[in-house]
Amino acid sequence: MQVFKFGGASVKDAPAIRNLASILQTYSPEELLVVISAMGKTTNFMERLLKTYTLGEGTAPLVEELMQYHYDILHELLPEDINGKKRLDLLRTELEQLLTHPYNGDYDFAYDQIVSMGELLSTTLISYYLNTVGIRNTWLSACEMIFTDTTHREGKVNWTETTRRVQAMVPPAIAASGLVITQGFIGQSSDQHRVTLGREGSDYSAAIFAFILNATRVTIWKDVPGLLNADPKRFPDAVKIDRIPYQEAIELSYYGASVIHPKTLKPLQNKHIPLFVQSFYHPEEEGSMIGDCPLSTDIPSYIVKEHQTLMTIFPRDFSFVAEENLSELFGLFAQYRIRINMMQNSAVSFSVCTDADRDRIQLCVNEMHKKYKVKYNEQVTLVTIRHYTPEAIQRVTEGRTILMRQTSRTTIQFVLRG
Ligand code: ASP
Ligand code: MG
Repeated sequence: MQVFKFGGASVKDAPAIRNLASILQTYSPEELLVVISAMGKTTNFMERLLKTYTLGEGTAPLVEELMQYHYDILHELLPEDINGKKRLDLLRTELEQLLTHPYNGDYDFAYDQIVSMGELLSTTLISYYLNTVGIRNTWLSACEMIFTDTTHREGKVNWTETTRRVQAMVPPAIAASGLVITQGFIGQSSDQHRVTLGREGSDYSAAIFAFILNATRVTIWKDVPGLLNADPKRFPDAVKIDRIPYQEAIELSYYGASVIHPKTLKPLQNKHIPLFVQSFYHPEEEGSMIGDCPLSTDIPSYIVKEHQTLMTIFPRDFSFVAEENLSELFGLFAQYRIRINMMQNSAVSFSVCTDADRDRIQLCVNEMHKKYKVKYNEQVTLVTIRHYTPEAIQRVTEGRTILMRQTSRTTIQFVLRG
């Protein structure tokens, strides 16, 4: 069995969904489990809807816009249809129901209940369309399979329970139709409500299914020809990396390369399941493979993360930054879920670069304030270069102010302004 993942861009409109159908057809009769994201930029839109809801403002126009986007795609795919729309309307009713509850202040919880609707809408529509045009498939709810703790917005997978559920649900569905359609990014938490696995978490969902089902391979279908050494929007001379070992890809995703969600690769590496990144525009072309292979390239890879905040923290009692301070500070970062992208300490200060949102940082800083003074630089950029060269460094730092810099044998990182 193989696992496929289609991200938002690959299902953003009717032609994209027809293209998905044709890709699936070329693989038939291979047994496939297909993980699908919300359509296009729906997740961002759902985040806007959530914000409106939490502010107590009217959500009806946004719900209408969301639904119209899906109705239009369905109509373009199946002009005569009425039953597909009824299915979407069931989800609409559920969403409207959720939005009538007054907001209880638990943002992360509300996020998961509302934002997860994007994936439910997309997979419902696509599964229905495929069945209607003769591509038989079974729609399964990821919420009945992926089981997590109650860390809303970043559910930690309970592997024992998830394995039990996936093994109970997927094989019969595969036996029935050979093709399973399910959602990425979402699951159920142990409080019996929907949960999400973190932005861009669909890749990780695909890896979870592949691991449990012992898939022969995973393919992530994307709008790029494969893994690139840099974002082509920023680096027009970006090149494709044909093969790359798991460990190198893990490093790249750890530093924020947006190609693959960082949690995706570990489970696959563990079972030696290769991951392919392929272009959905050119499915016949060979993409990139991440797997058991030697590191064959040392061309520099560039990872650029914007909208970072550089926080510099000083103990108020002028003590040195040492184990006690650090363990307290790390405790707070963990508690407020502030992910650190780069850090450095001097005798009297500790600096971290993070992309956590402002509200989260503010809550954490309030807590630190008694014992520490905190300075910020907002809207800075973190650039990581793997396999750096003098030219590569020159290229990213020229004309910019370097606020922080860190070097290891293979990697150099800069926090930059300008
Ligand atoms: N739809 C979710 C997101 O955009 C999950 C994903 O696409 O991987 O973050
Ligand atoms: Mg996506």
